[in-house]
Amino acid sequence: MRVLGVATIELPASFRGGDVRTNDDAVHAASVSHVEPLSSGPARRRSLWPAALTLFTLACADITPIANQREYGPVTALLDLFTSCQLLRTTDGPVLIDACWRTEELRARLKEAGFQPEDVKRVLLTHAHQDHVGGLSLLTQARVAALADERPVLAQHTKPARTIDDVLTDGQRLMLGGVEVVVYAVPGHTAGSAAFLVGGQTLVLGDNALLTGKGELGPVPRDRSAEPDRAVRSLVALIDRLEREGQRPRWLAPAHSGGAPNVGVLERYANANR
Ligand SMILES: [Zn+2]
Repeated sequence: MRVLGVATIELPASFRGGDVRTNDDAVHAASVSHVEPLSSGPARRRSLWPAALTLFTLACADITPIANQREYGPVTALLDLFTSCQLLRTTDGPVLIDACWRTEELRARLKEAGFQPEDVKRVLLTHAHQDHVGGLSLLTQARVAALADERPVLAQHTKPARTIDDVLTDGQRLMLGGVEVVVYAVPGHTAGSAAFLVGGQTLVLGDNALLTGKGELGPVPRDRSAEPDRAVRSLVALIDRLEREGQRPRWLAPAHSGGAPNVGVLERYANANR
């Protein structure tokens, strides 16, 4: 692991002196008051802040670890420290779902998979938080596709601000080099959050959920989502919708955890959150 900077974590007085009973207690009480990157000045410090907070929050969460280059059906997870993006190999070349966080990490992960950044002509975004779009500045040949509601989030987290080249719609079916990708709107983590069913096999979840250390589906930490309750409702609605449509994904691929080879976790999640 490369150390990017030092985050100063502050816990309220009630949590000092051995009062922290669980990681969740600490996560919900803590605030990151300051981030000092090792390499540069104020601009870099500002850009690192939200990602460092996410890193801290997820480091304290109980999750299944991300395995670099692990295949989940047609997609392959590309690891970038605490986040991941998904590589889809098609007959029209590689497609990325999300763009990871750091450009040099993304370049290295693509090279491991046999590709150069210029080979990537399309990126589908589950959402546009910084740790999912930071790698876009490396992908100069790629068209960016996302739901329209994600436009302001994308502009906020890219510099110069990127726009959505191809606006996706809920229920849209894309054919990408022989692979069908179905778009599902799942607002809550951000307003324009999406999930993608790839090749009828793999449900790419972004930050709409993650796999806990026990291999169960759970929400990302609540303070990371714009509307956490809505995010849960959206995911339950998606599970019901997949069932109505006769879709039975065999794999789940979240961004901030490893994936699951078992859709039973979808049903258990829906039943526990209705
Ligand atoms: Zn996010």
